[in-house]
Amino acid sequence: MRQEKKQEKRHLKGLDMPELLEFVESLGEKKYRAGQIFSWLYAKGAGSFEEMTDISKEFRVVLEKVSSVDNIVLVTKRTSSLDGTTKFLFRLHDGLQVETVLIPPEKNSPGAEKRLTLCVSTQVGCPLDCKFCATGTMGFLRNLSAGEIVDQVIQAQRHAGRRISNLVYMGMGEPMLNYENVMKSVEIITDDNSLNIGTGHITISTAGYADKIRRMADEGRRVKLALSLHSLDNEKRTELMPITRKFNVEELIESLEYYYQKTRSRPTMEYILFEGFNDTNGDIRKIVRLSNRVPCKVNIIPFHPIDFVHPSGFAKTLKPTAKPRMEAFVESLRKSNVTVMVRSSAGEDIEAACGQLAVQEEAAAQHRTQTFHSPGSSSRLNPTPQVV
Ligand code: SF4
Repeated sequence: MRQEKKQEKRHLKGLDMPELLEFVESLGEKKYRAGQIFSWLYAKGAGSFEEMTDISKEFRVVLEKVSSVDNIVLVTKRTSSLDGTTKFLFRLHDGLQVETVLIPPEKNSPGAEKRLTLCVSTQVGCPLDCKFCATGTMGFLRNLSAGEIVDQVIQAQRHAGRRISNLVYMGMGEPMLNYENVMKSVEIITDDNSLNIGTGHITISTAGYADKIRRMADEGRRVKLALSLHSLDNEKRTELMPITRKFNVEELIESLEYYYQKTRSRPTMEYILFEGFNDTNGDIRKIVRLSNRVPCKVNIIPFHPIDFVHPSGFAKTLKPTAKPRMEAFVESLRKSNVTVMVRSSAGEDIEAACGQLAVQEEAAAQHRTQTFHSPGSSSRLNPTPQVV
């Protein structure tokens, strides 16, 4: 007897309005149903069809049959006793896990009561193998869907009990390697009938995909751009960030010039200070020259040691710059009219830096597997890193 093929349910989270319109019409329903579902999914954060109370019961039964509202599930949540930074570890439908970090504003800073920033992940793991990053040690597992990116905002907001006002795409993964889903998530998140976070409150960070920086400029994307710069010396940057082999420093600067000419938006240069590596007077001169060429802001970040990852090789040599040298570095840049911000090291007591918690959890799971199952079982940790 011929077996009837079970039809796959349509995952609704991650669909934009045109896709939802097409979906409801394919079910023979009126167009306004799409708006109702859109608002329930994204503005009201409904986790099931049952919650969608202004949709008729009959239609909810149909929806349940042919589609699903997949939610990412909270595994752990840690809040820093130092500064209130909260790190969430979420499980995805296939059991993989990603991190999302909620960063409260500094106390007494202007507009603090209205500001709450969320750092979202765009990939599970990352192929780029930056030497200062815990996520880089995981290798690449997969891209997140637009729905999984949006859901990080919905779930974090629900757990925080407060509206998220600012978003940074700086969690696990390289956003430019998941460009389509990242931009789709931005379209959904910025919609008035969804989470309604303004494009000016969203920053997308890249480790250095010059081609995608140009693409963002060509497409007139109104989100902000950040570049993980960390060195303006090709050799040093290659050691620190192997992606430099694909797009060297000069190509990057040219793409930033192009971006600024097209958008008139000043990109932010993220710069982690490493003792004796990129904190010399020569490095200061290079940053000043860059800022004269491309109007930009420089964000100085203290290094957050990743001691639990057991860094090997070059990563082992990286040390944080001491505070007096960091202050002198910042002062010199300011004297040369560079716009500098210094990021406080958020959530140091909860492993809030990118990938730390996921790697810890992964290592713990691996330990459990090795202890209780076969000693040689395969691990998702440390697959061969590659530059994409
Ligand atoms: S810093 Fe970003 S791009 Fe580099 S390995 Fe980590 S997650 Fe990937």
